[in-house]
Amino acid sequence: MTRSVFLQFIIASCMLVGCAPQAQKTHDVIVIGGGLMGSSAGWHAANNGASVIVLEMQDSVYHQGSSFGEARIARSNNRGNDIWSYLHNRSVKETQLLVEYLNQSAPDRAYSITDIYTTAPVTYVGRSTIYDQLLASLIRQKVNYDMAVNPQEGKRKYNINLPDSVLIQREYNLHSGTLNPKALIQLLHTAIRRKGSAIRYNNKVTAVQYDTLSNTYDVTTINQKTNETNILKAHQIVSAAGPYTGTLLQDIAPYFDQLIDPQRVFLAFFKIQDSTYANLTDQDIKKVKSFYPVINSAQGTRDGSFFSMIEYYDQNNHPIIKIGGHFQRSTIDDLDKVWEKSHSKEEIQWSLNSTSNYMDLLDLPIKKNDLQLVDGYSCVYSLTQSEVPLVTPIKTNTGEPNHDFIVMGGMSGVGAKGAMTYGHLAARLLKGPIPTTEDTLYQITAESLGFHRIHPKDE
Ligand SMILES: Cc1cc2nc3c(=O)[nH]c(=O)nc-3n(C[C@H](O)[C@H](O)[C@H](O)COP(=O)(O)OP(=O)(O)OC[C@H]3O[C@@H](n4cnc5c(N)ncnc54)[C@H](O)[C@@H]3O)c2cc1C
Repeated sequence: MTRSVFLQFIIASCMLVGCAPQAQKTHDVIVIGGGLMGSSAGWHAANNGASVIVLEMQDSVYHQGSSFGEARIARSNNRGNDIWSYLHNRSVKETQLLVEYLNQSAPDRAYSITDIYTTAPVTYVGRSTIYDQLLASLIRQKVNYDMAVNPQEGKRKYNINLPDSVLIQREYNLHSGTLNPKALIQLLHTAIRRKGSAIRYNNKVTAVQYDTLSNTYDVTTINQKTNETNILKAHQIVSAAGPYTGTLLQDIAPYFDQLIDPQRVFLAFFKIQDSTYANLTDQDIKKVKSFYPVINSAQGTRDGSFFSMIEYYDQNNHPIIKIGGHFQRSTIDDLDKVWEKSHSKEEIQWSLNSTSNYMDLLDLPIKKNDLQLVDGYSCVYSLTQSEVPLVTPIKTNTGEPNHDFIVMGGMSGVGAKGAMTYGHLAARLLKGPIPTTEDTLYQITAESLGFHRIHPKDE
């Protein structure tokens, strides 16, 4: 190529693609954290038409965080406030819409809501004293259920050993059972990309600042693999950093450090010894499968309560049973290292005793020695004082809600089942206050999770 032809080529190229320095793109929304909450918020914001970047400090294979794992209890009934029932039911609907979008946008693979939910009876074991409160909630919350309230009924209806003063309730709603967080996160990330938005893994956010000149947020990231730092700009932010929320927001909304208290919880995984499993009758195996998941609060003490579920089936198609205690919590010395902390002997013993006691209640021929510990790890609950999570705008300097910055935090034992609703709310709040035309429970839920609670005196 002669010099003049080369120059003509350069000029033509510049006219086509532009040679001036490229101004940095300002994204509509940056979501910090790609766990269940951030992924859900990212999807809903992208679905509302925003250009979204989700920043996640872990690699694409999620290995530590409150959303780690393959099973969480998803249930419609809740003895307490009706918002918990709503959060689950709305999440099921939102998941169905997500699946429909994925199937329409690229019919290369058939997605199904059963990739996410396993429908199985949810079993609740509790003291008989909860009966009236339970019945009232069952009427309000339109749950399909049955119940045994004394030892005779327990034997007749389910062939189990129900102790005196203990009742058992079984919930049979479609899509009540367990939810798979790993599968849901994968679907959400696929859908976010299909909307033209992006997930950036290995990107840890180290600072978030408001740039008053451009009226945008500057988000500083460090690449966990290359150590390269970068500043991204966005008009709006959703913070969904789980237990790291307090540290992350220390400059922009320092009060979250007081509002959210991360605590360690442990999980243990048991299999039934192969030789024992081989001797179980078909009826026994059916019973094992249909009496998980379970929430057992019959001990009457917080210490004795546990939740347990089949996390997955091993290569022999034998169930791996996970158990944990909602109140088995301890303080955390180092959040970055807590995930590697192994169990104490007492914790393993508690898990084993609780599982074995439940096998006795079910009248199954499975004793302590028949249960083999196959795994266990530490996890984190991010807790608020009231144990109700927060999905809220931060405060402006004048104390008003700032709808350009939404925080999802304080998620604990009921986060997963409502994740698709929490994310919907976060994306909705980016548009401004929730209008009164929204359905009543949506408004009540938004209010319960909302802004007034970020004033510490109200917690
Ligand atoms: C043991 C246990 C049992 C549970 N059981 C149930 C149940 O049965 N039913 C139910 O409904 N719920 C249950 N939950 C609750 C539910 O799993 C959680 O509420 C939910 O997973 C929380 O999701 P999250 O996105 O808020 O947090 P996380 O999954 O922790 O996500 C936060 C993400 O942010 C990333 N991050 C943090 N800081 C940064 C940063 N600076 N830059 C970039 N990325 C960052 C983290 O890597 C992480 O991926 C349980 C939780 C636990 C721990």
